[in-house]
Amino acid sequence: MGLKLPSWWCSGTGSRLLPLPDCLFCDLPVSGSTPHTGAAACNSCLASLPWVDPEQPGEWGETSALYYRSPVRELVLAAKRGQGLQQLYLLAELTRIGLQPRLQERPQAIIPVPLHPERLRSRGYNQALELVRPLARALALPVLPHAVLRTHRTRDQKSLSAQARQHNMQAAFRLPAALPLQHVAIFDDVITTGVTCHALRKTLLDGGIRRVDIWTCATTKY
Ligand SMILES: [Zn+2]
Repeated sequence: MGLKLPSWWCSGTGSRLLPLPDCLFCDLPVSGSTPHTGAAACNSCLASLPWVDPEQPGEWGETSALYYRSPVRELVLAAKRGQGLQQLYLLAELTRIGLQPRLQERPQAIIPVPLHPERLRSRGYNQALELVRPLARALALPVLPHAVLRTHRTRDQKSLSAQARQHNMQAAFRLPAALPLQHVAIFDDVITTGVTCHALRKTLLDGGIRRVDIWTCATTKY
């Protein structure tokens, strides 16, 4: 009698050696018939996520994969707090799924919104960098996490008025060296007021880059 393998073992494409994971939303096993995304989410949960309509341009000119609503909000918060690598990987995969078909003109590189070095040290990773990796890989684009420096902490943004936020952000970024690029995309996990992304875009435009697109995993706008 041969070894009896569970059905999920044989249900993938043949290249998968590890068991398929359970869906992070509903806890059911991810079916082998999932058009394979690599994401630990089942087809029906993927379909019911708050995807941004591909025709919808963002208020800030940004392109976002998802609306910042439950269950995306919980995933983003978990990814930010380092509560689960699986959540971070799933969100990164959702970012790729949502953005890849919508990007028409390829930039030359992707710049994740940098964290201030102190915050990077305490968190241990930059979630924007981790979230954009699968998309960058799929598009064969370089990611430049050190192209821009965050020169001061903007921890208290939430308590500030929109105008004060803008002022607070104005000097937040600096280019340590000129970038020999014409067109880049900046990437952040969530766009809320747009102030951070716009401050970074301005720094890059002032540095001589002609076109700066804004891509995000999630948006609170529209
Ligand atoms: Zn599910």
